Amino acid sequence: MRRESVVEKGFFGDFGGSFIPEDLKSILDRIGEAFEKYKEDPDFLEEYCYYLKEYVGRENPLTFAKNLTEEVGGAKIYLKREDLNHTGAHKINNVLGQILLAKKIGAKRIIAETGAGQHGVATATACAMVGLPCTIYMGKKDTERQRLNVFRMELLGAEVVAVDKGRGRLKEAVDEAFGDLLKNHETTFYLIGSAVGPYPYPEMVKYFQAVISEESKRQILDKEGKLPTAVVACVGGGSNAIGSFAHYIDEKEVRLIGVEPAEAASISLGKPAVFHGYRSLTLLDEHGEALPTSSIAAGLDYQGVGPEHSYLHTTGRGEYVSVTGEEALEAFQQLSKTEGIIPALESSHAVSHAIKLAKELHQEDIIIVNLSGRGDKDVEQVFEMLK
Ligand SMILES: *Cc1c(COP(=O)(O)O)cnc(C)c1O
Repeated sequence: MRRESVVEKGFFGDFGGSFIPEDLKSILDRIGEAFEKYKEDPDFLEEYCYYLKEYVGRENPLTFAKNLTEEVGGAKIYLKREDLNHTGAHKINNVLGQILLAKKIGAKRIIAETGAGQHGVATATACAMVGLPCTIYMGKKDTERQRLNVFRMELLGAEVVAVDKGRGRLKEAVDEAFGDLLKNHETTFYLIGSAVGPYPYPEMVKYFQAVISEESKRQILDKEGKLPTAVVACVGGGSNAIGSFAHYIDEKEVRLIGVEPAEAASISLGKPAVFHGYRSLTLLDEHGEALPTSSIAAGLDYQGVGPEHSYLHTTGRGEYVSVTGEEALEAFQQLSKTEGIIPALESSHAVSHAIKLAKELHQEDIIIVNLSGRGDKDVEQVFEMLK
């Protein structure tokens, strides 16, 4: 009975759940039970908040983009500065939360999988800080394309395993990580990097990323004395978006807008399917194989999306739009020139839509854009694309 009610919790309407073999499911249910317990535990939360402040550098600012607002003409644009976090993006919020949870439940080792390497680097970083060994699975093809990120993880003390199976991409790395967990579950914690995967990951990742909207809500009320008209965030797996929406979901007058890359638009173009162990809108072909995607932003180049976004989309609470790589590239340059802030290519998708939206709204309106990361990592790629 009890176990069933825990699994029930993993659903958002028809989406989410836990479509994995029974033995794996009972391992993840135990993680879910630990999460339910510790998320209310004052000592655990105090420790999490301590590291958010002293290691990540929170709280980060909600910056009024005065120059961009004037140039665009329309709603006021504010930027939530996840780019200023240690390691330069929002991913560390979640990684830190899960690692502290892993320590609480006595895990001796962390495993994770990574596509482009950003989640692997965040995981290796926090593992170095808390002194836990970690193994990062990465498709062999991906390790070849992201050699510097592999080296970064190794510098941080992680073991990177190149998975030479199938197409040598993220899917194979995920399978390998689940295999490791199944074999070593007594000692091992599997750290998932976005609001995806079977129960309890979507809830857990949202919980740890919700600090973004907890802060931004307090900050905007402080600065403007009212809630924003819209919150805009890019959507890959959906963790920075769900974190920046979380504290506004019950504020029905605040529009929640997720921005997908047009080249990997799982919500706009996907169909409901079970993929990587959970049900969501997904870009699959008729054989259930992942369709190729081609976003310029590695962090958004994914066929699936977190189940809660599929739910917010079908219930109409969230609005989901898409922006092309070309539009994102333009926004990347515009924000750099007007504000002296180089955004990640992922975040540039959100910036691009915010610029469009600001023009349609009025001067009394406020848009908060989640700047999920900084663009230093993308400068070389942009240089090649603009040549
Ligand atoms: C990984 C990443 C994303 C996409 O991941 P979500 O889970 O959708 O947030 C977006 N922006 C940056 C900077 C990233 O590193």
